[in-house]
Amino acid sequence: MCSHARPGRRGRQFFNVNPGGEHAAMASPDLLILGGGIAALWTLRRARDAGYSALLLTREGIGGRQTLASQGVIHGGMKYALAGALTDASEALRDMPRRWRSALAGSGEIDLRGVPVTAPRQVLWSGPGLAARATAFFAGKALSSRVAPQSRAEAPAPFNHPDFQGVLYTLDEFALDTPALVQALAAPVAEDLRTAQTLTFHAEAEETVAVEWCGQRLRPALIACLAGEGNAGLLTQAGCPDLAPMQRRPLHQVLVQAPDLPDLFGVCLGGGPKPRLVVTTHRVPGRDPVWYLGGELAEAAGVARSEAEQISVARQELAALFPWLGWSRAHWSTLRIDRAEAADRSGDRPSGVTWRRRGNLGVGWPTKLALAPCLADDILAELAALCPRPSPTAVWPGEPPTFATAPWS
Ligand SMILES: Cc1cc2nc3c(=O)[nH]c(=O)nc-3n(C[C@H](O)[C@H](O)[C@H](O)COP(=O)(O)OP(=O)(O)OC[C@H]3O[C@@H](n4cnc5c(N)ncnc54)[C@H](O)[C@@H]3O)c2cc1C
Repeated sequence: MCSHARPGRRGRQFFNVNPGGEHAAMASPDLLILGGGIAALWTLRRARDAGYSALLLTREGIGGRQTLASQGVIHGGMKYALAGALTDASEALRDMPRRWRSALAGSGEIDLRGVPVTAPRQVLWSGPGLAARATAFFAGKALSSRVAPQSRAEAPAPFNHPDFQGVLYTLDEFALDTPALVQALAAPVAEDLRTAQTLTFHAEAEETVAVEWCGQRLRPALIACLAGEGNAGLLTQAGCPDLAPMQRRPLHQVLVQAPDLPDLFGVCLGGGPKPRLVVTTHRVPGRDPVWYLGGELAEAAGVARSEAEQISVARQELAALFPWLGWSRAHWSTLRIDRAEAADRSGDRPSGVTWRRRGNLGVGWPTKLALAPCLADDILAELAALCPRPSPTAVWPGEPPTFATAPWS
């Protein structure tokens, strides 16, 4: 519901209320962002830092859906090189840990100081019987500079057990506390975040679209649809579903909560090109820690399983990989969630970000949380061309959104 302009913000007053209570004209933002996950938040921060007026409209809580359901790993691409060679996907991610580290140190494009790094690096380990394959694999020249062997003597929990038979490597890829990341991105731009349950698109001049919100027509220089799986519906509403077809790749993740679980952030190498298991650890004060399990377990075969079957397979996996950890007091659950991306002819993950624009309407998917800065680069470059003179800060009507919660909360 629309409300009056919020007081206390400097700059041009864009939103007025007539004596009769009717909403008068609201000036349009330079950039209108539809979405509320990492893609939308990162782009909003970049646009505001560059001096543009910008408004983010989200349908659900900030941070949902994929962003807060993600494992929070800032990949450098090794996960996509497990077939033994560097790929387009692994190369696209190569620079991302450095770029995010700059942001975390306060010297990057966005100041993310204070966002907790939950793991400074990942572990890569081989399951039983695959040690020889792992050793041969990482001896390859292209990959050897990106992983470091980890000695048994310094093996972290849960690998510091005499029954562990595999080999261990460390990857220079870290993990972030995603709820804290979302809060940190949103806080400085809180006045530019609003909810929008219903939006109406109007085709105006050729290739120019206006958006009706709060009883007003907004005519931004650029409308960026960054709504994850919501993009398909937005493009249909806007009358251009062909701008960028979308694909959904489902996952069936597993959460296991147990007392005294040690921290584990890592990738288990299996027999194929995809990791057998990807494990991250999530802690909420006053509760037992949670291991969040993805990888091959959560892909097609896992998606076909019922929740009970998926839990049964996950139990067997963890009992096989870590028989020395007690699982009798563990509590198990699963999460079904789709990855939403630009459609790829092969049905595989696109190797990098996708951004397509026609007139003043664009659509984008970051493909990975870690790649959100690259998507924002593409959008900001186009915004600079479409809107050479940024407008002053505006005050928006409407209600601020709530925050979504992470699956382990
Ligand atoms: C289980 C899982 C684990 C993952 N792990 C990792 C990882 O470790 N590292 C990594 O780099 N990537 C990971 N990813 C990928 C990553 O999470 C996504 O690429 C990224 O979060 C997508 O962000 P997004 O902003 O595009 O979409 P989302 O986070 O899904 O956000 C979409 C937003 O759009 C809003 N919305 C929807 N419809 C509308 C509408 N009509 N109008 C307005 N707003 C709308 C929603 O409310 C939501 O806020 C993982 C993904 C999954 C599913």
